[in-house]
Amino acid sequence: MSARRIDGKAFAAGLRERVGTIAADFAGKAGRKAGLAVVLVGDDPASQVYVRSKGKATVAANMNSFEHRLPTDATQEQLEGLVDTLNANPEVDGILVQLPLPAHLNEQAVVDRIAPAKDVDGLTPVSTGRLALGLDGLVPCTPLGSLMLLKDIHGDLSGMNAVVIGRSILVGKPMAQLLLAESCTVTIAHSRTKNLPELLRGADIVVAAVGRPEMVRADWLKPGATVIDVGINRLPPEPGAEKGKLVGDVAYGEASEVAGAITPVPGGVGPMTIAVLLRNTLVAAHRNENIALTD
Ligand code: NDP
Repeated sequence: MSARRIDGKAFAAGLRERVGTIAADFAGKAGRKAGLAVVLVGDDPASQVYVRSKGKATVAANMNSFEHRLPTDATQEQLEGLVDTLNANPEVDGILVQLPLPAHLNEQAVVDRIAPAKDVDGLTPVSTGRLALGLDGLVPCTPLGSLMLLKDIHGDLSGMNAVVIGRSILVGKPMAQLLLAESCTVTIAHSRTKNLPELLRGADIVVAAVGRPEMVRADWLKPGATVIDVGINRLPPEPGAEKGKLVGDVAYGEASEVAGAITPVPGGVGPMTIAVLLRNTLVAAHRNENIALTD
């Protein structure tokens, strides 16, 4: 059996297009475009690439992109001052502080400063609390994108056994909350979990968010399971190559012989993250302007 390859890239393209159409409609109604502000501190090359592609995608979706760059030695006060300014700016609907921050800065304090109404990354205590309470709010982009892919395949997830590997604030925990809200029976595994392969063999849904290349093997999976691979890991380059290959947390080749459906890396969950960020910005913009969002 060969698993269905879940095409996150195509799904994300469709979502970005729908967001773009609604964003144009929003601009007509509100008399201004929705706006996303991205804050980058320092010159980490990977973060620079992410910020650039977020900016481009934002503009392509008929929204304004505001990029703010601070030097590596920026102070906590400077950064928090910038967040305060963006909180107060009515043109800005969403604020994203690109993580990780340089080590001398207090990440949580910066995130806590973001107005919950503009928390498009869903990481403030208010957003995390609302998700845990089952209340409407802004949800972290990667897990929400993963849930969209799962619902696209299965429709109703109710009663399914789901194992989420990873318990980070960014991915694992919110993913588990979202699956619980869909009435899955959810297990959260982490580095201290005993007998992970055994746990996975009972899972209809596996979400791997670990950061360990190809850790999940085919013989850990229940035949027909749906596998969402969030991991992005770069292998060491082959001799003569400049860059190593990108792989997920799941051994894709062998796992696709057992799973029913599986996301590839790249081209699976990754493209969903930016598309959901745009969607979250649009949701925030409608709420900030008190305009109903019908889609
Ligand atoms: P973290 O490092 O914050 O969390 C990793 C989690 O994996 C931790 O909970 C850790 O457990 C757990 N873990 C580590 N080793 C094992 C093990 N041997 N067995 C079981 N669990 C283990 O990472 P993130 O959640 O931020 O990201 C996870 C992966 O997803 C990374 O590869 C990252 O690059 C990728 N990612 C991809 C995104 C996308 O857009 N596709 C977006 C965000 C992340 P413990 O808590 O006990 O330490």
